[in-house]
Amino acid sequence: MHTKGSSCALLADAARRSADYLEGLDRQPIFPRDADIERLRAALGGGLPRDSAPDAEILQFLDEYGSPATVASAGGRYFGFVTGGALPASVAAHFLATAWDQNAFSFTSSPAAALFDETAIRWLRELFGLPADSAGSFVVGASAANFAGLAAARHAVLARAGWNVEEQGLRGAPEVTVMIGAEAHATINKLVPLLGIGRAHLVRVPVDGQGRMRADRLPAIRGPTILVIQAGNVNSGAFDPAQELVPQAHAGGAWVHVDGAFGLWAAASERRRHLMNGFAGADSWATDAHKWLNVPYDCGISFVRDADALRAAMSISADYLPLGQHRDAIDITIDGSRRARSFDVWAALRSLGRRGLAEMIDRNCDQAAWLAEELSAAGVEVLNEVGLNQVVVAFGSDEQTLRVILELQEARTCWCGGTRWHGRQAMRISVSSWATTQVDMTITRNAILAAAGASHA
Ligand SMILES: *Cc1c(COP(=O)(O)O)cnc(C)c1O
Repeated sequence: MHTKGSSCALLADAARRSADYLEGLDRQPIFPRDADIERLRAALGGGLPRDSAPDAEILQFLDEYGSPATVASAGGRYFGFVTGGALPASVAAHFLATAWDQNAFSFTSSPAAALFDETAIRWLRELFGLPADSAGSFVVGASAANFAGLAAARHAVLARAGWNVEEQGLRGAPEVTVMIGAEAHATINKLVPLLGIGRAHLVRVPVDGQGRMRADRLPAIRGPTILVIQAGNVNSGAFDPAQELVPQAHAGGAWVHVDGAFGLWAAASERRRHLMNGFAGADSWATDAHKWLNVPYDCGISFVRDADALRAAMSISADYLPLGQHRDAIDITIDGSRRARSFDVWAALRSLGRRGLAEMIDRNCDQAAWLAEELSAAGVEVLNEVGLNQVVVAFGSDEQTLRVILELQEARTCWCGGTRWHGRQAMRISVSSWATTQVDMTITRNAILAAAGASHA
């Protein structure tokens, strides 16, 4: 039987274990050892038990077998993908919000969620300099946010051609062209077919040495067209020249969507805001709060200037659903029932304030620049211009670089992944966590140089 007293002890135990886990992260291998993964696999074997287990034992099991098998990405030395940690205030908010267990699909299902949503979205619009009447919503991640922007775009460009895609589908529709940079994020290649627009209708615009779309190579725009530009190339961190691209695309009648999964956060920093020049003129934007805002997974954010286009693509009606007196999340995202991501986002923004957020973004960028300089001084080849939080390096031949990455990953002091950058094997370092200190950066530099030395020995 579950009683109030026992659930209090249980939640206190969960909080204590969480705190202990975070405290100990510095001493934990950054990637779990094989033995810990195998221990977990063995412990998880067997079928669904017939009988109930005591809650305290369940928590004990999770901590004993689960914790050692986790990736220490919440700590200060995880530089894989673009990951980010989770700010303490947002972790705590997430706990409380889990207890609230609100279904955030509409105002009627949770007024609290709807109000936190509205405030968090208003603050974020302000931060990114986006139009006050654009529709903003919380989704799973930048993939889902890109999907929302592209679905609204598909509706709008076809509506202008006299075609109602939601009613008529794409059979017999005017052809839609999607222009992307040659280094667009892989999610766009996945989403375009999901929207019924085959990859054969993708036009790849050439990029420069940093992966920025070349405005002088943007093809003439004819017919319904969506242009996808990037704020933050996933390897180099470079920004497409929006100031030139957006007016050119708009002159041809195209819809411009921005994939700014991590780059959009540059707007928070006075020193880096110039990178965002021209992006606010676009029609839709996608970003991730689980990346650089450092909230717990998962949390993407979508903004669409023409809220009606988004609603046309996403709104729903059913006899049992309340009818639109409020901004209902269900009408502007693909999701129905959902958790209230804005509780964590609001807490992160409130805990940092404008100034704290700017400091975090600047600190990570400065850490990336410092590491690039240190590695370069030690003879490591830095392949990108380090203008944001991304560093791309190589250690000689492709084989040598792969060996260094493996060596580094096996040392488990920090974690960096591989990539291919302009035809070469490279290693990516993405500095995106509030938890990363200068001590972490020094340890990381030493670990990378040790791996490079060891692999040459
Ligand atoms: C991470 C990323 C995505 C995908 O975001 P998810 O949150 O993983 O869905 C898309 N575009 C870029 C540039 C990214 O960095």
